Amino acid sequence: MSANIHTYNFTGKRALIRVDFNVPLDENGKVTDDTRMRAVVPTINQVLNGGGSVVLMSHLGRPKGEEDAFSLKQIVDHLSGLLNHKVIFAGNCIGEKATELTSNLAPGEVVLLENLRFHKEETAGDEFFAGQLAEHGDVYINDAFGTAHRAHASTAIIARFFAHDKLFGFVMEGEIKAIDKVLHGAEPPVTAIIGGAKVSSKLTIIENLIPKVDRILIGGGMAFTFIKSRGGKIGSSLVEEDLMEDARRVEKKAEEGGVKLYLPSDSVIADAFDNNANTKISPINAIPDGWIGLDAGPETIKTYKEVITSSKTILWNGPLGVFEMETFSKGTKAIAETLADVTPKGVFTLIGGGDSVAAINMYNLADKVSYVSTGGGAMLEYLEGKELPGIRAILE
Ligand code: AMP
Repeated sequence: MSANIHTYNFTGKRALIRVDFNVPLDENGKVTDDTRMRAVVPTINQVLNGGGSVVLMSHLGRPKGEEDAFSLKQIVDHLSGLLNHKVIFAGNCIGEKATELTSNLAPGEVVLLENLRFHKEETAGDEFFAGQLAEHGDVYINDAFGTAHRAHASTAIIARFFAHDKLFGFVMEGEIKAIDKVLHGAEPPVTAIIGGAKVSSKLTIIENLIPKVDRILIGGGMAFTFIKSRGGKIGSSLVEEDLMEDARRVEKKAEEGGVKLYLPSDSVIADAFDNNANTKISPINAIPDGWIGLDAGPETIKTYKEVITSSKTILWNGPLGVFEMETFSKGTKAIAETLADVTPKGVFTLIGGGDSVAAINMYNLADKVSYVSTGGGAMLEYLEGKELPGIRAILE
């Protein structure tokens, strides 16, 4: 059994925390969305209040070597403001200077290391590099759920250097708890709403969810591969022809598993992929040539709302239409609003995956649902039933 952040004694210890400070910056290097930074404040405070010192490490973007545009120096002031605490910036994440700085930390001090991805050894999962990073701390905390599905030096390999002193931060704990609640022991009926552009990226998730849920609502561009595989006419809508057979197989598997799989019955169709295009409502399986299905139609929205309202546990991943364009955002918005409506009535609602999170934020409903996952890829892989290296490394 690994240590845990609630009971660990941080007195006099240097906690090396892997955080996810991969935040968007504007052209002046100002943080434009600090959700991920705010998320780890409780973990940092737990160490400081417990009498320890903190060394933070993160990646930022995908630099090719040391590029100023990707320096974490740009976020130091913002972080300092969030923590209401001085943050010392180490010009590198390894090397003599950084190590000297972190080896002499007094309780209460906070250091931020430079972008881990300035060294290619990070993503390569290099053990020697992980060992160099490990020198910065007496205890290792992983609080970067967004990279938990990667076996990188700072997210997984490094844990080998902390036999017992390794633990999850509050973000990781919360994420694991929320997803486990849906995967194991959720209150039925359990409904998964799966939307987004491509079937290819969601098929395994749908298959993995079949034994765990009671209903699956399919939406977004990926619905058309299912509709076409049933012989429907989909006009110029998005389709992955090579996956039509898989779509049929998944439908059959759902049926055999007693899971009701819903497909949209109607669609908002447009004569161009444009917010100002001409639009009309069409049955989803009779879309005229030259027209594209870009949002869920009113009948679909009504049915999906009814299914949501009669569920006790809901997982939502992927938008129901091209919600980035106002004209095609009604389906996605309706789902977000319905989830916010049912949550206070005791329904557990988990939202995850980049675009559904963007949508729930866009409608200012993030604090009206049970849990919004910070990790897109990581959450999907966890839902697919894969063991995430960042999680395994701590539990091992
Ligand atoms: P994903 O990353 O697979 O979750 O897909 C998200 C993207 O799917 C968003 O950018 C949406 O605009 C897009 N999307 C949703 N519905 C459709 C559709 N009917 N046609 C084309 N793209 C769509």
